[in-house]
Amino acid sequence: MSSAPASASPHPDVKKVLFDEDALRARVRELGACITRDYAGRRLMVVGVLKGSLIFMADLLRAIGPEVDVHVDFVAVSSYAGSASTGTIRVLLDLRENPEGRDVLVVEDIVDTGLTLSSLTETLRARRPASLEVCTLLDKVSCRKTPFQPKYKGFEIPDEFVVGFGLDYDERYRQLPYVAILRTP
Ligand code: 5GP
Repeated sequence: MSSAPASASPHPDVKKVLFDEDALRARVRELGACITRDYAGRRLMVVGVLKGSLIFMADLLRAIGPEVDVHVDFVAVSSYAGSASTGTIRVLLDLRENPEGRDVLVVEDIVDTGLTLSSLTETLRARRPASLEVCTLLDKVSCRKTPFQPKYKGFEIPDEFVVGFGLDYDERYRQLPYVAILRTP
């Protein structure tokens, strides 16, 4: 078995690596420290949005200190076809635990138009959590169609389609340990 790291050379479909493993590790650690400071001594329901948040969520959880009593839950959502202008989402997988009266932190891979998260947070807010914040790894700030501001973000990126570190193109490339722009076919 080779001991070379999986990221030794980028995937052949990759045009440019935006954030490599070191950059991601360092930034996730900073986010974890920030969240630890903000929620120390409290119980926090960390809600991953499947599937894109998968890898970010796993790393972020390990970067949150023991001062926070972390509970983990997941949701899966999909946009209704043709709903781009309304941003209405369909909940495919709902929370296992009731968020009422809880501190909730939603973890997402990327905010683009903001429609998914503004709709999801509106849905969750109706269930009366004590607090509700969002942590996204990536933020395409220039692409907003609705004024949505995540409290925590890893990196702002330009309007490019990215894959890796959980993000897919047609369910591929999620396992890449870096965030990258694909070559156009
Ligand atoms: P929004 O509702 O903010 O426009 O979109 C959020 C969702 O669109 C993300 O959760 C993600 O699934 C998808 N998305 C937006 N931009 C990208 C991108 O650059 N790469 C990938 N893989 N997915 C994206």
